[in-house]
Amino acid sequence: MLALGLGWGMFFLLKGVRLVALCELALMLLGAAVVVSALRERIRLAAWLAFIGLFVFVCLFSALLDVQTAQIPRSTHLFLLVLAACAHYVFRSEAPWLRYGLVGLFLAAFVVFAAMPQGIPGHDAIADDVRRIGIWVNLLTVVASLLVVLHLQESDSAAHRALHRALRDALASRRFVLFYQPQRDAQGRIVGAEALLRWRDPKRGLVAPGDFIQAAEDTGFILPLGQWVLATACQQLRQWRAHPRLGQLQLSINVSALQLRQPDFVPQVLTALQHAGIEGHRLTLELTESVLLDDLQSAVAKMRALRAAGIQLSLDDFGTGYSSLAYLRQMPLTELKIDRAFVAGIETDPHAASIARNLLRLGHDLGIDVIAEGIEEHAQYAYLRDHGCTRFQGYLFGRPMERTDFEALVDAAPPSPMD
Ligand code: C2E
Ligand code: MG
Ligand code: MG
Repeated sequence: MLALGLGWGMFFLLKGVRLVALCELALMLLGAAVVVSALRERIRLAAWLAFIGLFVFVCLFSALLDVQTAQIPRSTHLFLLVLAACAHYVFRSEAPWLRYGLVGLFLAAFVVFAAMPQGIPGHDAIADDVRRIGIWVNLLTVVASLLVVLHLQESDSAAHRALHRALRDALASRRFVLFYQPQRDAQGRIVGAEALLRWRDPKRGLVAPGDFIQAAEDTGFILPLGQWVLATACQQLRQWRAHPRLGQLQLSINVSALQLRQPDFVPQVLTALQHAGIEGHRLTLELTESVLLDDLQSAVAKMRALRAAGIQLSLDDFGTGYSSLAYLRQMPLTELKIDRAFVAGIETDPHAASIARNLLRLGHDLGIDVIAEGIEEHAQYAYLRDHGCTRFQGYLFGRPMERTDFEALVDAAPPSPMD
């Protein structure tokens, strides 16, 4: 965008067509704004700026400046096809109505310009001799861009298919494993653990969920995978049942939006508990706010049914989503889990510390336990404890570890005042 604006801007400036040169300058500035946003890691903002800015630019340019004559057809509107193809690719993780709404908007504008070649009268259209060169440049750029987008989409979906196949094979060959990260209370006792998924791949090594959960969600594979996590966690609780310490622990598992949306999610959980012969209150399901936003009423109904069986419900990554008090009050949660973004900033960022304090107060006001995750420093732990936090999880107390290491850790823990 920067290069295109600069190139055409110089060209029109040399030709003495100032209005067009100014438009190209605006395009260049837009390009700069997009680059700055991307460098600041505000990728979504950068994408929206780029697409909406380019759309407005192409439409105005097509209507006012690139006006069809008997000799030379209009060509700027062809960029709307590139925008549509790019939007289809770039916005693939957005909600379908947004993604296809945007693509539809660009294609509709293309149709309008193709069907109505005349421009808005009274403006300085670009001269035909300039547009004669422009049409070649524009057409070649459009065709090359479309080829690049097609190539990107193809290689992306090939990689996606390969990953999906690898995940399916991994489940069939039992290459998924649960790691356990200890959760402690204010006295330092291990009172529970979060089960975190790992994929032991012969080629890739130990793969963290960040590298495959999104793909598993996109392909629906998270459903069988989530069932495996649920069944494995319940079996683990059963194996620990007779142990004096392990038998007292609470085990948390993560549940994705797609899982909760299944009409038979509640019976699935109850059956897994029944099969393993364990009580509901030993299991905690961690949900994120996005899970709840999809269809609040049905989510709340399922949560109530789970609570009726004693199952604990935790709101994961709390503070990063959209929950309002109105939402929170409706949900039968037993725990709020403060996201590690706020914990990390406690010592350095007064805003993060103030948010952490407010989240703790909110939990207290709602009568819900609050756990903080991502605690790495003793000072973070002390701050949270002094402000009413009752449960703690983070590298300071133990990283996610293999089952045997976790069992050894619990065994080796000094007797608590309650023992
Ligand atoms: P989460 O549920 O918020 O889990 C906490 C993540 O923070 C874990 O990353 C954990 O290893 C990491 N963590 C814990 N303490 C610290 C700390 O002190 N410092 C830092 N920097 N990180 C810490 P992990 O295991 O890579 O999991 C990432 C995410 O993947 C999880 O976030 C969860 O959303 C998802 N996930 C993991 N297992 C499952 C699963 O079985 N099902 C589903 N649907 N999602 C899962
Ligand atoms: Mg979690
Ligand atoms: Mg979390």
